[in-house]
Amino acid sequence: MAKCDVCAKSTLLPERFGTVNVCRLCFIKANGPLWKRSYERYDDAEKHRLWALEKMQKHNFPKPATVAVNEFFTSQMNAMLRCDCCGHPVQHLRAIGKANICKQCFEKINTSAWKETEYEDNEAVEKNRQKMLKLASKKGFPPIVVDGINAHFDAKLQPGLVCSVDGGLGQRLKVYETQCQLITKDSFHTKKITEAYIAALQADVAAVPDTASRETCLFKVAKGDFKIDYTVYSDAQYQKCGSNDLGYIRLICSDADGRRSEDIVFFFKSDDKKIDAAYRAIARGIERSKSAADEAPTAPNPPAPARSAADEILKFKNLLDIGAITQEEFDEKKAELLKQ
Ligand SMILES: [Zn+2]
Ligand SMILES: [Zn+2]
Repeated sequence: MAKCDVCAKSTLLPERFGTVNVCRLCFIKANGPLWKRSYERYDDAEKHRLWALEKMQKHNFPKPATVAVNEFFTSQMNAMLRCDCCGHPVQHLRAIGKANICKQCFEKINTSAWKETEYEDNEAVEKNRQKMLKLASKKGFPPIVVDGINAHFDAKLQPGLVCSVDGGLGQRLKVYETQCQLITKDSFHTKKITEAYIAALQADVAAVPDTASRETCLFKVAKGDFKIDYTVYSDAQYQKCGSNDLGYIRLICSDADGRRSEDIVFFFKSDDKKIDAAYRAIARGIERSKSAADEAPTAPNPPAPARSAADEILKFKNLLDIGAITQEEFDEKKAELLKQ
């Protein structure tokens, strides 16, 4: 049996703060069960320290008990306020994963590699990770900080991202295992690109006159962010710049009857190994989704979404505007579509 240092009554299982004993009842009066715990954050511990002191004052805790509780908090807070690199006690620490380091130590690794927050691809994340790890090892940072650096870069990795390419014309293509994303910037010049694309296509078409149908011109050149799900596309076409002004990766979407609907096209102005890799990954993705569909148990095909006549007319209007078809051809197509 111990004696409670607050109310002086005997108690069987006192709460202990150093050599000070507090009985269960006094402990509860001061809200002890709510604040006697371990703290991870300095400001959280400070908030609860002040709250505990206020409660103890209200219930007339004697000085030694107050001092002991105060000590309970400050010992935790002091432990928090040591830099994990240099071990110096400091007021403000920066968290790197589970490590806390002081401003001076942080400055040693606060390079542009660290500040970069948007990464193009995982390769760029790894490149910066290696840069930072090399620097940390040169400065002799301990394992907890190295782990923190790794955690920082792990969080930047984009799962399933194969590569990301900039076409130099205002489009970026991010290629993932199961999809890709086409991101268009404001600088993307829709009309100019459409004209160049038609020129590139016609060069292609001229070589095989039989395919020179208007169908080959059905495509979409638009601004906006497009998510490209490989299961929706049946084929991908790759045209390097070569002697043309424009190269492209074209995702072709055709329905069961082989009828073309709008293609999505990524344009680039110079050939690049990275674009080769992007195309290969897309082609692989489409192949994979096709063979997965073949293996899947036969389910009735969902009906192809109906394309409205208005959509179709708009498409031909675009072709008319850029001079790909004549007014006559447009009128004819429009009348045909309206009859349907
Ligand atoms: Zn008591
Ligand atoms: Zn330090």
